Amino acid sequence: MKAITVEPGKPGSTQLEDIPEPGVRDGSVLVETIAAGVCGSDLEMAEGKYGWAPPGRKRLVLGHESLGRVIDPGPTGGLVKGDLVVGIVRRPDPVPCSNCAVGEWDMCRNGQYTERGIKEIDGYMSERWRIEPA
Ligand SMILES: [Zn+2]
Repeated sequence: MKAITVEPGKPGSTQLEDIPEPGVRDGSVLVETIAAGVCGSDLEMAEGKYGWAPPGRKRLVLGHESLGRVIDPGPTGGLVKGDLVVGIVRRPDPVPCSNCAVGEWDMCRNGQYTERGIKEIDGYMSERWRIEPA
């Protein structure tokens, strides 16, 4: 499938390329992209000023402002085929800190959080993506 990727830290490295289909490890819900926003953070990543690739990789799929349609809701979660969804960006740190521990990931206190399309997890600028139903 097609995806827009960048090599974080390398200006001008943004490109449209073929990547593997998203794995079930990324979530049980399979989504097709309808739209993806482009904001100042994306421009900074394209300029090499921001962003982190997943561990062990050079490139990151961009995209943290998403709108998608469920094409396979998976076995649990209450979603149905055709539902519109927006992907959560930030994920709790593994410690977790006191805020992540109570589900307040946007207030993470230790900076070890990850973010889809920004910090160490592929984003939503791909034809399809997976996500956890919650
Ligand atoms: Zn935290």
